[in-house]
Amino acid sequence: MEWPESFYALRRGEGCAMCAEGRPEENEFGLRIFKGKALDAYLQRDGRQRGYTIATWRGRHVAEPTELSADEAAQYWLEVLAVGRAIETVLRPVKMNYEVLGNSLPHLHTHVMPRYADDPRPGWPFPHPEHPPPPQPEDDFRRDVDALRSALAGDVAESPRRQPA
Ligand SMILES: [Zn+2]
Repeated sequence: MEWPESFYALRRGEGCAMCAEGRPEENEFGLRIFKGKALDAYLQRDGRQRGYTIATWRGRHVAEPTELSADEAAQYWLEVLAVGRAIETVLRPVKMNYEVLGNSLPHLHTHVMPRYADDPRPGWPFPHPEHPPPPQPEDDFRRDVDALRSALAGDVAESPRRQPA
């Protein structure tokens, strides 16, 4: 098996959908719950796992986190962690997973994936289905969007924690 030619072009940023989409409030897969300096995070609509969020790097096209400068990397990972912390606070998972894969779309992004007591494969990486399952009920999804946005609005990722007066 070999990687398709098209993958090499995508890795260079040619035809990259994540570069092309800009910074929308909503994309094909989800609603934005966080707009950071380094990334946008989208709660995913499909029903594979409640709270499943994709955090997409919003600088120039890079395929690997190793292409970031130290400052860029620090900002990116701090914001990824802020997203993870909000999911922990709101949804109380048993474990959080942070998957940096990019094997089909090689533009830096992180799958922020909560794992619950009731989980499709405890003890193993999350079994992403080949085809996305149907969306979650819209009311439930919107409730999670609101709760996660609120949790993220109070996070410290964007500025140093204020000292008490
Ligand atoms: Zn890109």
